[in-house]
Amino acid sequence: MFTIKGKTTDWELVIGLETHIEVLSNSKLFSGASANYNPTIAPNTQVSMVDAAMPGMLPVLNEFCVEQAIKMGLGLNAEISRKSKFARKQYFYPDLPQGYQISQPAEEPPVVGRGWVEIMGDDGKPKKILIERAHLEQDAGKLKHDVHPTKSFADYNRTGVALLEIVTFLDTKNPENNSYITSPDEAERYLREIREIARALGVSKANMEEGSMRADVNVSVRPVGSNEFRTRTETKNMVSFKFIKSAIEYEARRQIEIYENGGTVSQDTMRYSQSEGTTSVMRSKEDALDYRYFPDPDLLPLEISDEMIERIKQTMPELPAATRARYISMGLNEYDAARLTESTDISKWFDTAVNGKSERAKPIANWMISELFAHPENWDAKNAVDTAEQGEARIITPENLAELVDMISANEINGKQAKEIFIKMLDGESGTPKEIADRFGMKQITDTGAIEKAVDDVIAANHAQVEQYKSGKVGLLGFFVGGVMKATGGKANPAVVNELLKKKLA
Ligand code: ADP
Ligand code: MG
Repeated sequence: MFTIKGKTTDWELVIGLETHIEVLSNSKLFSGASANYNPTIAPNTQVSMVDAAMPGMLPVLNEFCVEQAIKMGLGLNAEISRKSKFARKQYFYPDLPQGYQISQPAEEPPVVGRGWVEIMGDDGKPKKILIERAHLEQDAGKLKHDVHPTKSFADYNRTGVALLEIVTFLDTKNPENNSYITSPDEAERYLREIREIARALGVSKANMEEGSMRADVNVSVRPVGSNEFRTRTETKNMVSFKFIKSAIEYEARRQIEIYENGGTVSQDTMRYSQSEGTTSVMRSKEDALDYRYFPDPDLLPLEISDEMIERIKQTMPELPAATRARYISMGLNEYDAARLTESTDISKWFDTAVNGKSERAKPIANWMISELFAHPENWDAKNAVDTAEQGEARIITPENLAELVDMISANEINGKQAKEIFIKMLDGESGTPKEIADRFGMKQITDTGAIEKAVDDVIAANHAQVEQYKSGKVGLLGFFVGGVMKATGGKANPAVVNELLKKKLA
């Protein structure tokens, strides 16, 4: 469990995330303007009369966006509301031409209700994180303050693009239900899981750097073992995993210090400073905005039929949780399965390498997690298949790793030789593992005769150690194995070496 040491007690964290993902659609949530607002597009060229809030313009709900929300809801194992409403959330800011954002009212069921996602908890075991709701709403425009010394500019291309806001649930009525995020790492794994579900479904690019995924982070602390939920703060608009983790930790320590000095935490809205790594109060609860939600009179309630939900269910691809279950059925442990489903690109890479041969699964997983993950520059999970060799560093392909693993299990090479071949591949040696092995004469010696000769030589040359071994220092076996491996240029089959040495030293 993640805890922070205090002066008199240790503290644990309670974290709630409100995650916005931008829905991938051709047009905006309530208008026909293009929803593609990328930075290469000239400002204010994709703004309809509705987006610009011209008097008398009426919003028309984009059915495709609703379908995407339902899809994501199903991906979150959530209830889909058969009826939900749209409301106006009033606030005045130059990025919002309407003077209100069309969202779904907080007190009523939104399009997506209660659900859950599974992540790997800090104890390495699967953990369910409960979802309270996900609702559809409009994005705001973008203000640019850095183009002119005395003027600010507004770009409304993003205005009205559909967002889905996914909120985690805290079961305050059943505080012993601990299906919520309790550490910075779990927060990251939760966000990655949301991202991968969204990407697998094609619902959103869910890319934090591009801003198509953003999160508000709610944090509170409490003494370890306590079941109470204390006052939380909310840090707004976080756009990187690293900053989110840093903000959670900083904010938790800030609150702990307040409690330890006898103070109380107030329910403030915080801002995070990327350069300082600190949080500071943006507005206090007393200045909380009153959004004066009211039903949007221009929009009918959203009704969703069972048929529509059924039809969308038929189109659902395999999601990360199902992929993990499949990997576990192939013999991987939960940790491996979690690592290999961190992104759909990684799991596709793994599936390509295994290629239906389940005996490959465990060794491929081991190589990927312990070697490839340590050399991110040498494999590109996304492009590995088409860019076998790219630039200076060699890109390891799934096919090559599969061949390497097969060579080990066929006893053609031993683990040490495999590692050498692997390093040569990383260093830009051309050819397949088999070709490299041939080129460098790396063939495992399994011929007992040849190994026996080396074993005899090593035993003959180390009288003192043989005596020690025989008098009980069996830990010396490794010393003899090392000697034989050295004598055979690292080519002997270690299993055969071990077996022969044990026999001869007995
Ligand atoms: P608001 O209405 O202010 O948006 P919500 O009740 O919707 O607040 O909660 C927003 C998020 O904060 C949710 O993810 C919720 O689980 C989380 N949250 C609520 N109370 C706490 C708390 N005491 N500590 C940490 N997170 C909390
Ligand atoms: Mg809320």
